[in-house]
Amino acid sequence: MTQRRSFLKGLAGMVPAGVALPFQTGCSGSGDIPAAGREYFEEIGMRPFINAAAAYSILGGRNMWPAVIEAMDYARAQNVNMDELHVRVGERIASLIGCEAALVSSGACSAMTLGTAAVLTGTNEELIRRIPDLTGMKDEVIVQASHRFVYDHAVRNCGVRLVEVETVRDVERAINERTAMMFFVYLYDNRGQIRAEEFASLGKQHGIPSLVDGSNVLPPVEILSGLLDMGFDLAAFSGGKGLRGPYSSGLLLGRKDLIEAARLNNSPNSDTIGRGMKVSKEEVLGVMVAVEFSLTYDYAVEYEREGRLVSTIADGAASIPGITTEVIQAESESGRPHLRVYWDATAKGLTVAEAKRQMREGDPSIETCALELSDGEFEIGTAMLKEHEIDTLVRRMQEVLS
Ligand SMILES: *Cc1c(COP(=O)(O)O)cnc(C)c1O
Repeated sequence: MTQRRSFLKGLAGMVPAGVALPFQTGCSGSGDIPAAGREYFEEIGMRPFINAAAAYSILGGRNMWPAVIEAMDYARAQNVNMDELHVRVGERIASLIGCEAALVSSGACSAMTLGTAAVLTGTNEELIRRIPDLTGMKDEVIVQASHRFVYDHAVRNCGVRLVEVETVRDVERAINERTAMMFFVYLYDNRGQIRAEEFASLGKQHGIPSLVDGSNVLPPVEILSGLLDMGFDLAAFSGGKGLRGPYSSGLLLGRKDLIEAARLNNSPNSDTIGRGMKVSKEEVLGVMVAVEFSLTYDYAVEYEREGRLVSTIADGAASIPGITTEVIQAESESGRPHLRVYWDATAKGLTVAEAKRQMREGDPSIETCALELSDGEFEIGTAMLKEHEIDTLVRRMQEVLS
């Protein structure tokens, strides 16, 4: 207690005069921090923005279903064994989805690392402790060159080398006694010469486990079991994107023996590659409820809402001189409803990058698509927009683009 008090005193000395520390005023230490009226982000000098772009990870991802927050609040107040929680929640999710087994991870990336680790180590405790040192072990993962992307670092975390292929013939040539796994990115299904089902069946033919990254292709929720039905042994998903669970959560689904191996490679087990990818009991339960809720939710309602907002914004922007708008009404996760805005940069004396910068730096701050200021297009996405933000957005568009 003495230690805690002197820590607080030290901290108080660092805080500018006039900034009240709420936990100095009657906090019992029970964990109930008085929050009423606090503007946390303002206190630390941040400006929350209106998200007229999309649910990008850098912008904080999606918002959780209210049912998820309820479940997390419930879990907060209870104590349970984390090993058992992972097993039980995994069983529930697997039965809901209709697959052999499931494991909650700290994101699709973590699911990819744990899936790769599972293939490499199985349930061998010595190997689990040893990776990413793969001395004497299989250490190659086959991937189509067109499926190489920033997130394959999650696979490489395990110490494997990615072997790039393009054709079926390449795959057959690349397979050897060092081949541990085949890796596929479903978001890029139509980029490569080998499509998902064929890729998975090549793995089956040669007895090599396959892992598919299923992030960013949900909804439809049927994809959760769909990728396994295509023949993949393991499928990784984000919990914090379309499933609308906690931001830092994910799912690994698939073969029972491999999921068990992945679980042993995961936190709360300490000497493992997954120990740094810890998921709290609140998040583990939150993912379960996110799956439950998503399976019964009619995602068409979202697309309709977003489509309506896009039309309203287009109407509001119609009076801005010298711009053309195009309403994109879409009904899939990869192409949600959005508004494209065009103008002649020379005639207007305004580049797209400058317009995005002004939207971002104005009051209030508004993020537009895409994130890179220099990107050639000015787009408004409505997935994260709230009805009451529309008037402000249209006003700022009029100010910046007129
Ligand atoms: C977002 C994304 C990931 C990473 O997912 P996290 O849940 O943030 O770890 C992986 N692959 C693809 C295709 C993604 O879009």
